Amino acid sequence: MRCPYCSSLDNKVVDSRIGKEGDSIRRRRECLKCEGRFTTYERVEDVLPSVIKKDGRRETYDRMKILNGLKKACEKRPVSMDALEKTVADIEKALQDRGLKEIPSSVIGEEVMGRLHALDEVAYVRFASVYRSFKDINEFMSELKDILGNKEMKKAKEVNQTKEA
Ligand SMILES: [Zn+2]
Repeated sequence: MRCPYCSSLDNKVVDSRIGKEGDSIRRRRECLKCEGRFTTYERVEDVLPSVIKKDGRRETYDRMKILNGLKKACEKRPVSMDALEKTVADIEKALQDRGLKEIPSSVIGEEVMGRLHALDEVAYVRFASVYRSFKDINEFMSELKDILGNKEMKKAKEVNQTKEA
């Protein structure tokens, strides 16, 4: 992206927003040389890697899927829509920064979990319970225990281990 004022290629992104249709990313950039500010628009499918699903099929990155997952996890939690939008933008930036053409869905899942953890712990647990269901139940239980520090959870874990034995 060339600065329209001085043609320098060095700039930083000061703000990223998803277009209304969800298919473009609007970025405010600041030139590092002349400090001029300008806006660029990029199509989501041009900048985001396609997703490799668990069964190996590829699909186009779909930000609505991620946003809806976040919304569901944050239902009735004190998390604003703005915070969710920003979280999606942060996730997308992290995915882009990897510089890959294709990215496993599990990597996106981990990215979402990391952000949710910082955003709202209850929402994180909700999301994690769905996302990690039966994949690694013991890992999930120990995370729950860490977060809630709750005797009930410890009990549930013991019962679960007894069952497995
Ligand atoms: Zn410039």
